[in-house]
Amino acid sequence: MSGDRAIDEAHDPALESTPAVDSRARVVLRKGRARPLWFGHPWVYANAVDRLEGSAEPGATVSLVDHDGRLIGRGLYNPRSQIPVRLLTRQDEPIDGAFFRRQIATAVALRGRLGLPSAATTAYRLVNSEGDDLPGLVVDVFGDALSVQITALGMAQRRADLFDALEEACKPRSLYEVAAASYADLEGFSAQTRVARGESRPRVACLEDGIRLEAEPLSGQKTGLFLDQRPNRVRVGQLARGARVLDVYSYAGGFALQAARGGATEVTAVDSSARAVARIEAHAAANQLAVRAVEADAFRFLETATPRSYDLVVIDPPKFARARKDLDAARKGYERLNALALNACAPGAILVTCSCSQNVEPDEFERILAAGAKQAGRRVRVLERSGTGPDHPLPPAFTEGQYLKVLFAHVA
Ligand code: SAH
Repeated sequence: MSGDRAIDEAHDPALESTPAVDSRARVVLRKGRARPLWFGHPWVYANAVDRLEGSAEPGATVSLVDHDGRLIGRGLYNPRSQIPVRLLTRQDEPIDGAFFRRQIATAVALRGRLGLPSAATTAYRLVNSEGDDLPGLVVDVFGDALSVQITALGMAQRRADLFDALEEACKPRSLYEVAAASYADLEGFSAQTRVARGESRPRVACLEDGIRLEAEPLSGQKTGLFLDQRPNRVRVGQLARGARVLDVYSYAGGFALQAARGGATEVTAVDSSARAVARIEAHAAANQLAVRAVEADAFRFLETATPRSYDLVVIDPPKFARARKDLDAARKGYERLNALALNACAPGAILVTCSCSQNVEPDEFERILAAGAKQAGRRVRVLERSGTGPDHPLPPAFTEGQYLKVLFAHVA
């Protein structure tokens, strides 16, 4: 969740012409290290690898076999990564343009099964990396545009095939590539935020459960909008009737807009980014909804808010724990934030508290809420536990992919 990004619309053909090799090399696992992979886990960690048989350049595809030589599947190889193999398939099949067309057709069919897109919702995730057997590839749909983020070298080398397959399946008016600089550095490829195919537009219109939104793939955060919270925003809309609502870390106003449409008596949305606040105001106007947008630091705002003055409070901060070593500081930050949000809650209010730190486990996050309640001197009960929506599928037990935790709590 980085800050606002520089706009770079340059079309650089070199980005799409790196040769991608479908090699016959095999990565052999150490004895006893194949079990998670047989159970559907998609990653091979460096310390599980015994040897490479044959030769493979970084980014090539390889076959993965267990210590006895049994084929587990085929995947992307990158020896300089902590995850040298990411599985694409469990079959012994060539990884080529036809393969990517099939994977993307499968992803489209799953969204169709989920009712996406619909008359009310045209913003959703089409490809969720490992969850769609396309590790290192995220594709979000915003109306008639696609926003693509690449986080693995092998995928970066196959941009041309991927973009062709996406164009064929979705016929987008614009296809954006949004750079994920930290992953590109780790994996060793160059990435630019740009319009890769089609029309260059600064924003693209889409709908979320009937709310009109505009995504900014070139200049916004993440791929343009945060789609992972969609079902939770809809739920907040259902809980907002008659409530005084506070949406902190609001970004484009997703929770605030749903609350306003759901019948909130007043809605305040807070974000520290001026660009985000401008979006909230534009979105409120486009939907003829009343939202007061405030540009402020979340902690500052909550420290000076009138105590016990809101009936529904949402806190959806950026990642506090980027790595395991940040965990202690992150825990303290979350506790303090939750305590401050609880101070703002009137008796009988609902607090919707979120964490997108993958390193903070679900039970740990509940303990954080309990500690925040202790600090604030309030009693809370968890009503609902939620996370990402169904357009973010994941293999079971792939805890590395589970990052979002959302608790709906009643505040006494
Ligand atoms: N709730 C949003 C997503 C939030 S992402 C949604 O439903 O779409 C996190 C947001 O926190 C970003 O918009 C970022 O600009 C904002 N942010 C980061 N640091 C902040 C701070 N210290 N105070 C307030 N907002 C902050």
